[in-house]
Amino acid sequence: MNRTIFCALAAAILATGCGQQQPPPPAPARFAAQPGELLHFVPVAEKLVALSFDDGPNDPCTRQLLAICAKEQVHVTFMLIGANAEKHPDIVREIVAGGHAIGNHSYSHPRFDQSTPAVIREEITRADTVLEKLTGQKPVLMRPPYGLYGQDYFEICRDTGHVVGGWSASASDWNPHTPQELAGALLDQLAPGAIFLLHDGKETNDGPHRVASVQSVALLIPQVKARGYRFVTIPELQAAAVAPPAAFANGVQLLGVQWPERTAASKEVALRMHWQLPAALVRSSAHVWITLGGAGGPFTLDCGLPHGGDVWKETESLKVPPPAFQPGRYAMRIALGLGAHKRKPLPCAGAWAPDNKAAAVPQPLVVAPNLTVEASP
Ligand SMILES: [Zn+2]
Repeated sequence: MNRTIFCALAAAILATGCGQQQPPPPAPARFAAQPGELLHFVPVAEKLVALSFDDGPNDPCTRQLLAICAKEQVHVTFMLIGANAEKHPDIVREIVAGGHAIGNHSYSHPRFDQSTPAVIREEITRADTVLEKLTGQKPVLMRPPYGLYGQDYFEICRDTGHVVGGWSASASDWNPHTPQELAGALLDQLAPGAIFLLHDGKETNDGPHRVASVQSVALLIPQVKARGYRFVTIPELQAAAVAPPAAFANGVQLLGVQWPERTAASKEVALRMHWQLPAALVRSSAHVWITLGGAGGPFTLDCGLPHGGDVWKETESLKVPPPAFQPGRYAMRIALGLGAHKRKPLPCAGAWAPDNKAAAVPQPLVVAPNLTVEASP
């Protein structure tokens, strides 16, 4: 079933005003972000992960990065600035020749939240024109500068045919960090379907501003491969998508849940939930229950859906202090209530929702005696 029909069906179920009594919506056959929708995390059945780089092409960092990717035989995604591509057409051709994917990152890198819809549209189409002329292909992905949306941004991307290129993991590489710190921060956020954000350029400036980011990639790739992962481009990641593990009535989809693989020195545990939310959803009306059954439980954690507003804020990170947990194994269920039914769980379908009442996360949470937390295979 395609996504449009699925959403219409979900809306029809809600329109009856008794979502809890209605059968749950059928889960989509496959997750697919359409033009005007956000792609920031992809449910996949294999250990696939995508690296993406913003603000290139840059001299010298982009070529340094291309050399690392060639040595490691890894394909990545470059979100290019149109003005930089005009300045370095040869580097753009080297990116394409290396088998990498290209996305649109605006023509001149303005803040879209301070731009008019007309300027946003012009920035997107002008960069498209430059990139299509150099590569022969119009980019499918559009990542807004600084990750910031602007007025009518999603509608404009729907019109121009772009999927919004988000990410699920970053290491704040625009701030000073060592390559080791950057690689470590990204490794902590590794999960099948993750999209990593790094930079090979700095807005429209040339120069070695992103040397630490480039060096971090050389450290990161072997460690990610050693954990059994394969690197793909973002379009390849989307092509490998499977059905979301849980789809709630009215179109909300849970794409994945992450416990950190290990948080040995951490004072708290960050549970990360990756959601795909319909644009029209009133997020503030949502209530999420997380039930942990097991050694010290059962107990319930409450939170909302991500606030949204920019591409950084689509993954909910819920901090849980370790003393809340007794050592042991915990089974985890996620339920969602919305709008008038905020206090009643919505029906839910998908591989994680065999009873249609909540998403039962298949990986148990394991709390070791020293209160470190890890996901169990
Ligand atoms: Zn940027």
